[in-house]
Amino acid sequence: MTPLPPPTPDAAAPPGLRHGGCACGALRFEARGEPLHVGLCHCMTCRRRHGAPFNAFATYAAADVRWHGPDSRWRSGERSYRLGCATCGSPIFWADDAGDYVELHLGSFDEIGTLAPQYEIWTLRREPWLAPLPVAQYERDRPGEAA
Ligand SMILES: [Zn+2]
Ligand SMILES: [Zn+2]
Repeated sequence: MTPLPPPTPDAAAPPGLRHGGCACGALRFEARGEPLHVGLCHCMTCRRRHGAPFNAFATYAAADVRWHGPDSRWRSGERSYRLGCATCGSPIFWADDAGDYVELHLGSFDEIGTLAPQYEIWTLRREPWLAPLPVAQYERDRPGEAA
């Protein structure tokens, strides 16, 4: 993950790039190529962080994500943190301290409909009115994964 230079007005987006950002527009990101996986998390930390019943995210290799803008960071796990826009407070991503992975939130992307969840985790915390998607379901973290 490297800082993204300020956008130039007539920069054409190369293929294989997805763009997104926060609600106020101060923090912008780009992600190269396809995500490693896409998921939904119903855990209490995600619920509270987003003020929403679940968090939808796309996991990228950190080297494929660049961003620029005013950031605020919150240490949400022993080896991970969550980054948001310092101006408007929008959550932007979760990242591990090792610098391997970045989980961008689906709602932050400019384009709608290009990424769909492949699994759901922490379904123990699912809202009872929310039906499961027809994808793999995990009551807690996926085996071998934890924030
Ligand atoms: Zn913002
Ligand atoms: Zn979560």
